[in-house]
Amino acid sequence: MKNIILIAPPAAGKGTQAKLLCDKYKLAHISTGDLLRAVATKEDEFSLKVKEIMQSGKLVSDDIVLELLSNRIKEDDCKQGFILDGFPRNLNQANSYIELSNKLNIPVGNVIYIDVPMEITKKRIIGRLSCKCGAVYNDQIEENKPKVENTCDLCGASLNKRSDDNEETFIKRYDEYVKETYPVIEFFESKGMLHKINGVDSKENILNEISNIIDRGNI
Ligand code: AMP
Repeated sequence: MKNIILIAPPAAGKGTQAKLLCDKYKLAHISTGDLLRAVATKEDEFSLKVKEIMQSGKLVSDDIVLELLSNRIKEDDCKQGFILDGFPRNLNQANSYIELSNKLNIPVGNVIYIDVPMEITKKRIIGRLSCKCGAVYNDQIEENKPKVENTCDLCGASLNKRSDDNEETFIKRYDEYVKETYPVIEFFESKGMLHKINGVDSKENILNEISNIIDRGNI
């Protein structure tokens, strides 16, 4: 069983890499952001609260995230291994995850840290546009613009902007990342579990670099 934890600042491309790696190594993709977005589409009081926290750029409470995660990890498609995308985001989540893996008798896995400077992630977030077919574009980065404004090159549908992809929310999310997630990076580094990757490169090169680590048997 191969488990991989992907850590990166907002919009460093970890969602993209997670999908590519899941296809390549037949792993389940567990994005806590996606699990929470699924909750946030409902209309009850709890779901609206989750949506509000996400839109503010703050972290949703550890109890909620851990419950969603522990249910997800028990699903059948996770038996061959999984990639954690967007989790753990703070030290408490890191420790709780280690406890959960011990309880479920599964390997904690290894940690890939995709490093991207703040100014680059900011452009990526503020310009990010996605299509319901899964394609992603960016109207602030020349080579990633759609051919026709706001229209998917692949299926012709209109593109959507995530409601939390604005500058104000970005700054809050980045501050949360520095305050809460940097300690997680140091924590895994001190345990010798961290592999640092330069995230300012093409998605193919980043995938190759991560694959080299996996194929060398370090994971
Ligand atoms: P993401 O899709 O990973 O960028 O996450 C979007 C939002 O979901 C974040 O800004 C947080 O509000 C929330 N979120 C995602 N993962 C976590 C987590 N592990 N802990 C707390 N909140 C999270």
